[in-house]
Amino acid sequence: MSEPLAGVNLVAPWIAAQTQVLLAQRGHAWLLAGPSGLGQYELSLALVRAWLCEQATVQGACGSCPSCHAIDVRAHADLCVLMPETVMLALNWPLSEKAQDEIDGKKRKASKEIRVDAMRDALEFAQRTSGRGRGKAVLVFPAERMNVYTANALLKTLEEPAGDVKFVLATDAANQLLPTIRSRCLSHTMVWPDQASALAWLQAQGIPANQASVMLRAAGGRPQDALQFAPIAALWPRLPRAVQLGDVSVFKDWTPAQTVDVLHKMCHDLMALRCGALPRFFEVGDLPKVESLQSLSHWAKSLSVTMRTVEHPFNVGLMQEALISQAQLALNAKT
Ligand SMILES: [Zn+2]
Repeated sequence: MSEPLAGVNLVAPWIAAQTQVLLAQRGHAWLLAGPSGLGQYELSLALVRAWLCEQATVQGACGSCPSCHAIDVRAHADLCVLMPETVMLALNWPLSEKAQDEIDGKKRKASKEIRVDAMRDALEFAQRTSGRGRGKAVLVFPAERMNVYTANALLKTLEEPAGDVKFVLATDAANQLLPTIRSRCLSHTMVWPDQASALAWLQAQGIPANQASVMLRAAGGRPQDALQFAPIAALWPRLPRAVQLGDVSVFKDWTPAQTVDVLHKMCHDLMALRCGALPRFFEVGDLPKVESLQSLSHWAKSLSVTMRTVEHPFNVGLMQEALISQAQLALNAKT
């Protein structure tokens, strides 16, 4: 569940507050870092909108000038977004004509990394003069999807920026970035929203109150991630017991990665509970009582191993059956 979600337009209050903080400081390159689902992408977009806006205030972009409009329709000549193609597509950013032709013509699949070609275009962009006269901006997200070649190419531009270009890099894995990239940027650690504003924001997205709290829990308190749990909010509280009974059908519409993610959360909570701590993702009452801490810890280890290979399962159905029977064994073990 790591791909960001498209179509979220309302700027959440904790994103708006952080935008103001960043705008009040000088800096030509920002690195926004923190765990996923806190709004790195939304904050980076709010920042570039404000930089390029024709009537920006201390609070950020106006939202109505030609520059803001050009960003809303994904056609701003002075903004370059540098993302893996899969993320561009998910967030409705247009690919280069060449890349789109290659993907449409089935010559290759959309890339999950930031491609060298895209980086080359971005570096050219950085050299050009600004079309609208308010400088230029490069948005890199998720920045950890640069490989060592693209990262080094970007580094040169960060070291010697061509006058009027600003950068914002957003990541949920800052530790995977080259240290030289990190040291060239001003760092900002994403702020966690408090529960009340996260719930209020989810409700503003049209989520009923009772579902919002289940979803926020399922996502470990990360509001943007929580939206992905909307289709299964009703099912969520029943999942642990269904797994204990070996009911594979609850996972029928899920990818292996999503299945493993949920089992991991379940395992985490059961171990916490067994050690006298509070669960994080499920309510206490929704979790079965598990006797064997040892089998839980075995289960946790095998889930971590599965996590590394889960992108390439040989057969989704078989894999899920295997995962559920493994879970069932751990949940019902007596010693
Ligand atoms: Zn504007």
